[in-house]
Amino acid sequence: MTKGSINVSVENIFPLIKKFLYSDHEIFLRELISNATDATLKFKHLANIGESKSEYGTPQIEVKIDKEGKKLHIIDQGLGMTAEEVEKYINQVAFSGAEEFLDKYKDTAKDSGIIGHFGLGFYSAFMVAEKVEIITKSHTGADAAHWTCDGSPEFTLEPSDKSDRGTEIILHIAEDSTEFLEEGRITELLNKYNKFMPIPIKFGTKEVNDPDFTPETTTDAEGKETTEPHKQITVDNIINNPNPAWTKQPTELEDEDYKGFYRELYPMQFEEPLFHIHLNVDYPFNLTGILYFPKMTNDMNIQKDKIQLFQNQVFVTDNVEGIVPEFLTMLRGVIDSPDIPLNVSRSYLQADGAVKKISSYITRKVADKLKSLFNSNREDFEKKWDDIKIVIEYGMLSEEKFFEKADAFALYPTVDGKFYTYEELFNKTKANQTDKDGKLVILYASNKDEQHSYIESAKAKGYEVLLLDSPIVPHLIQKLETTKENISFARVDGDHIDNLIKKEENAISKLTEDQQTELDTILKEIVPSEKFMVQLEAMDSDASPFIITQPEFMRRMKE
Ligand code: ADP
Ligand code: MG
Repeated sequence: MTKGSINVSVENIFPLIKKFLYSDHEIFLRELISNATDATLKFKHLANIGESKSEYGTPQIEVKIDKEGKKLHIIDQGLGMTAEEVEKYINQVAFSGAEEFLDKYKDTAKDSGIIGHFGLGFYSAFMVAEKVEIITKSHTGADAAHWTCDGSPEFTLEPSDKSDRGTEIILHIAEDSTEFLEEGRITELLNKYNKFMPIPIKFGTKEVNDPDFTPETTTDAEGKETTEPHKQITVDNIINNPNPAWTKQPTELEDEDYKGFYRELYPMQFEEPLFHIHLNVDYPFNLTGILYFPKMTNDMNIQKDKIQLFQNQVFVTDNVEGIVPEFLTMLRGVIDSPDIPLNVSRSYLQADGAVKKISSYITRKVADKLKSLFNSNREDFEKKWDDIKIVIEYGMLSEEKFFEKADAFALYPTVDGKFYTYEELFNKTKANQTDKDGKLVILYASNKDEQHSYIESAKAKGYEVLLLDSPIVPHLIQKLETTKENISFARVDGDHIDNLIKKEENAISKLTEDQQTELDTILKEIVPSEKFMVQLEAMDSDASPFIITQPEFMRRMKE
């Protein structure tokens, strides 16, 4: 037996780790399963390049609860460690064997998906365990080793009789952490962090219908049919999908696969997504993922169903603030990137160059996808407009790059249900909707019912009236007015409409002059003149005989 001291400079690092390393104690399981996954992927790599004599086979990782013994086991069939390696990798806190491995096999293991890199993950076990054991046998065939440490800097290392390749980590769960001996709690954690990890993870067993058994149906004398019960068999309960959709090439996937993956991600969400965007880039940074535009519904769970961030298929967080541009946080889906620095503050993230590039890449991909959807099936795009406009309009306001690109697909609906792009709108209205200064005036309504008579009146004059009813429209209008040359927007019930050149100057009212004066007086009495203007209309149409307008400046003053 060897005895020794764990090689750290501080007197006792464990209390520190327990308190400060991770605020969330539950992540210990993610870290240990990540290590088990790394060990398996490393072994796979060595087997592939012929540096190991054993066969790769079909390894899996097992998580096991021993309730009576108050122990939690994490068992892998990875490359294992020799006693020397345990000394080197485990006893040296903050020495990452994962980094060392990637360094050594730089050329071939770049895309192996190895997760670790801080060299601290293992010690998170001490956040929940009062004692940790490692029993491990290296793929090299060297004698197995048994390491034990009770949370003090002292450890013991002795031989073990473990005969099969791989590592078993045994956590003696501490009194204040017994929640991690509950099956329900562990299931919850596995679902949260490990649902898409690349090596199958077994947690207990389950009963399923035997696929090799076909129940027989018999008919009795009276012609009544009975089918015998299906035969059940016990199989491993594998909690993860090792090959989630985002790790595949877009060419391998059909529309149905994307929808299926959406259901996998959000099992409680019954509404299908409107469309997806497959992200896939490996230079200048590495990022994969699938984003979905959800259908806006009243019972949307914006709090819960969010974009999830992964690193090499390990769930990290669903707080993607700073990584995904804010206007896209209403989307759903996953992004996976080993290049996003994680254990750093959000403000640092926002300043990080790689992260900025990632954010603008995502913006660009979303804009490109919207453009191609618009070009390939405009009718369908128009149908979806109500569901996607919030995201697009918000994006146009908050991201200059997106604003520029959005010209190709942002739609301006009219009160009659037509949709124009900005260019179409411009061409359609430029001939007869300019004011004295030659400025194009775009009329819009925000409520079809309330502004009905104004809309009819404007239409009677041959003007186009847009229906802009989303809450951020006032801001978008301002943005368009300041960016686009020589245009302004005016509410259909504002006074701007009178300044349009097309207005017929000497139109005749349906009313006689006496009737006009009479009506005028009555109206002026009931309508406060400091707020509204009353005008009798020249009505050659079926619109109203008079309209009450609120001058643009009065309205803006009020806002
Ligand atoms: P990191 O994963 O960032 O390298 P950890 O503290 O999580 O750091 O682990 C330290 C090292 O211990 C690993 O790099 C690896 O060499 C070794 N190790 C940990 N768990 C296992 C395991 N299950 N099988 C083989 N080696 C392991
Ligand atoms: Mg690790």
